[in-house]
Amino acid sequence: MSAALVETILLLEDDPGVARLQRLRLERAGYAVVATATPTDGMECLRQGGIDLLVLDNRLAGSEDGLSFYVRLKANGLDLPTILVTGYSDDATVISALRAGVRDYVFKSVEYLDYLPEAVRRILDQERTKRALAETAREREQALRDLQDKTDELRSTTQQLWQAARLAGIGELAASIAHELNNPLATVSLRLEGVLARTPTDDPRRRPLEIVEQEVERMAKLVGNLLNFSRAGREQVSTVHVSDEVRKTIELTEPHLRRLRVEVAHESAPDVPSIIADRQQLRQVLLNLITNAGDAMPKGGRLTLRVRRGELPGPRPAIVIEVTDTGVGIPTEHLARVTDPFFTTKEEGKGTGLGLAICKRIVVEHRGTFEIDSVVNQGTTVRITLPVTNETNVNGLRGRSRE
Ligand code: ADP
Ligand code: MG
Repeated sequence: MSAALVETILLLEDDPGVARLQRLRLERAGYAVVATATPTDGMECLRQGGIDLLVLDNRLAGSEDGLSFYVRLKANGLDLPTILVTGYSDDATVISALRAGVRDYVFKSVEYLDYLPEAVRRILDQERTKRALAETAREREQALRDLQDKTDELRSTTQQLWQAARLAGIGELAASIAHELNNPLATVSLRLEGVLARTPTDDPRRRPLEIVEQEVERMAKLVGNLLNFSRAGREQVSTVHVSDEVRKTIELTEPHLRRLRVEVAHESAPDVPSIIADRQQLRQVLLNLITNAGDAMPKGGRLTLRVRRGELPGPRPAIVIEVTDTGVGIPTEHLARVTDPFFTTKEEGKGTGLGLAICKRIVVEHRGTFEIDSVVNQGTTVRITLPVTNETNVNGLRGRSRE
């Protein structure tokens, strides 16, 4: 709150003699005083601001009296603490004035000049107390709101933790089902091969059998991929050909993306070197980014994965992986927060807000960099730069896996 050191009183008083006396008393009491003689001047002065209280003569020369001036003031949104100076026998005016919101009144009597400064002080004190109370109330409301926000945050974090734990459980379940499916699928495939071998090429029953074989192959591939992805490897750091990993991840996710009417393109430069990395974690990164891209394109679109040579400061040789979608994009105000754990804009049960947090952690652990470019309604590019190989990333990862 910026309170001026000296409070300023505006006088609206058409009698210059009275105005001079009022000014004298108020200045002696420590106030700054501005005197005006006509409603027009008074209004203008109030418009300019900086006035804390108005001492208003009710009987002004001209057509307007003090009370109607005050009513007009209020209607113009210039309300301020006002003391009306009225004649002795003016009870009716006093009542209407108080009804209109005038804070106090003094009768124009012999001694009123003596208690004018006191009335001014009382009203200004009240005003300060009122402001302080309002401020306290505002602070309390804010504290309450903050508390409510924290409670909400805690509640949703707890829910998301449960959700994350459940998802992790589902991943394990999927892996174990994939494992169970593997054997029967192998049997079916083998039997089918036998039947096909015994069916002459011109037999009309051959075509349906071939279709069954294709479908079984597709299932076997899917199950194989699932197993690959969920297998927790012991030796985590190895030579990884990133383009291969991109291709395999696309294969795994393509059926899902096709259902979303998302076209997938894979553009890998031919000269991309292999890198030293944790294959399992790299797959997790790609999978998370592709999932996000799919979610961002509910009406279809285009997903492009690019792999090319790059460089990290040092300079260290690096590879760049870009995952670009033509989806909804990320509003600027969210950009800095999307990699925070549990930040999600997705409905409950769909998003955990952990995907990008995990991606970023993995990339940083590989001594790489993680960037996001996004334009709302145009799309998003996530760019990951990973060192090809250097002591830091190898040692760093080995160090971590021993933890
Ligand atoms: P989740 O997918 O569970 O919400 P993430 O950490 O993967 O958690 O993503 C956090 C948030 O970032 C998402 O809820 C979404 O708002 C935004 N986001 C991430 N990827 C994209 C993308 N490709 N396009 C648009 N928004 C995205
Ligand atoms: Mg996600």
